[in-house]
Amino acid sequence: MSDLIFRALGGASEVGASCYYLGLLKNGAATPSYGILLDCGVRPNAIGEASLPALSCLEGLPVDLVLVTHAHLDHCGALPVIRKLVPGARVFATEPTIELAKLMLQDAAKVGEQEGAPLFSPGEAMEAAASVQSLPFGQTIDMGQATVTAWPAGHILGAAYYEIEFGPYRILYTGDISITSQHTVGSAAMPPGTNPVDVVVSESTYGNILLPSRKEEVRAFVLAVQSVIARGGRVLIPSFALGRAQEIILILLGAITSRDLPPTVPIYLDGLVRGVTEAYVRLSDFLPEKLANFIRNSRQNPFLRDPVRVVSSQAERLEIIRDRRPSVIVASSGMLTGGVSPMYAAEILREEESAVFFVGYQDEESPGGRILELGPGDSIRLGQQGIEVEIAASIEQYKLSAHADSAGLQNFLSRFPSHSILLVHGDNAARDNLFSAMKTDRVVWKPKNGDVFDPLSAPAWLTAPAAPDQRGEPVKVESRKVQGTVECRPDGSVAVVYPPEVKEMFEGITAVRTVLRRSPVKLRIEGAANPAGDGGEDGEEEPGKMPAE
Ligand SMILES: [Zn+2]
Ligand SMILES: [Zn+2]
Repeated sequence: MSDLIFRALGGASEVGASCYYLGLLKNGAATPSYGILLDCGVRPNAIGEASLPALSCLEGLPVDLVLVTHAHLDHCGALPVIRKLVPGARVFATEPTIELAKLMLQDAAKVGEQEGAPLFSPGEAMEAAASVQSLPFGQTIDMGQATVTAWPAGHILGAAYYEIEFGPYRILYTGDISITSQHTVGSAAMPPGTNPVDVVVSESTYGNILLPSRKEEVRAFVLAVQSVIARGGRVLIPSFALGRAQEIILILLGAITSRDLPPTVPIYLDGLVRGVTEAYVRLSDFLPEKLANFIRNSRQNPFLRDPVRVVSSQAERLEIIRDRRPSVIVASSGMLTGGVSPMYAAEILREEESAVFFVGYQDEESPGGRILELGPGDSIRLGQQGIEVEIAASIEQYKLSAHADSAGLQNFLSRFPSHSILLVHGDNAARDNLFSAMKTDRVVWKPKNGDVFDPLSAPAWLTAPAAPDQRGEPVKVESRKVQGTVECRPDGSVAVVYPPEVKEMFEGITAVRTVLRRSPVKLRIEGAANPAGDGGEDGEEEPGKMPAE
């Protein structure tokens, strides 16, 4: 038992509306004497009040300090509302986060007005962001009952994770974290050695996913763009305006320099992406050295070099939508929930030769998430008007993530051995996986929105009597290597077909798991005009066969 209380107002088992309350109780009182709010975000998929965390729960609670980790709206979108609710609280963020939050919040205010459900005006957005005090990385501020240090979290420009001394307790809040370097931001600062803390509040976005190597994924993405352009199509890349879009532009420009993409095909930049990109240049002192030096020495905007073109009017946008010549369009929003990307998608999705490539997290309820589940011939309704679009374009998702994956998160968290860990900012599958991986050496919590508890107490799963062991005889598992054939059937289904002798092996077997080794597959197309197909001549392997083990 301790004097700490924790409550998720939002963002517990969701990626959105991150807002967590930490209170310190004094002398056995039921109400905290001091309160800290970790982030105050909104749900990107919802509008108006429904997008907010449950701020009414703060009634009667002190909020002395608000710590904003970064300028993505799921972490800072409710700041103007919080400002009105608790005007006396001091709010801290890094300088780039403050500058980027001005843009993001003003845009959110305009979008709210367009949707007819504004939470604040553009003026209030500006005022709220301007009232945030800057906390440089590595510096500690002493707020009496709490001292706070901000450390680089990777993820996007300005993103911080916070180390908080709160009364007698040490707390770590990760915000969104990345341990891989990107073009526009380094990796999270990994402190040397181990740094014991009492409580960690950690994101879990990709808690159940192992991402491919960034280098390989970038390569696959560039080759895919190349092939769409070569067949005369265009590529729409719906992108989060802040962070991901700037990375994508630099990847595309790099591919032009290395001659992987033609220098003449235009790259259009549309939506909030424009303003954010300009802010990145103004904030060049905070960018990685290579990029900062380029800006200093060349006095050029590294994001807006030829053939990148900024779309600045609706007329220009309509012109681009009508022009079916090869091009690449990077437009916000990233999940096709709003902004200008749904306008482009409504046209490009219908074009067989074109493609829509998603490059970030897709909520399964978002249009982007739903499109990933659909195939050619399926339809989806897009935009505010709900235009029905039949999908003909190719759809792919590239995991160019700005979040640590399951292994990365565990690696990062291993530097902070703690009594308790609270898993937030992730769906249940992601949190369950991290829970299983970490419950042997820490008290792991998977809070729900609204739960109030002492994070240093024992959760129910620890105190409940152990369930009787019903496992019985252990199941014998063995693996054998066999050759199989991957068969793509005319109805679109795919089957792994084994030779007849394998059938005997299956007798009495309760489960068989097929692991397909990652290797090139040659396909033999039967029934086509030219049955040999391409590459049927060089016969190291029998066409159509791939090893399965
Ligand atoms: Zn983020
Ligand atoms: Zn987030």
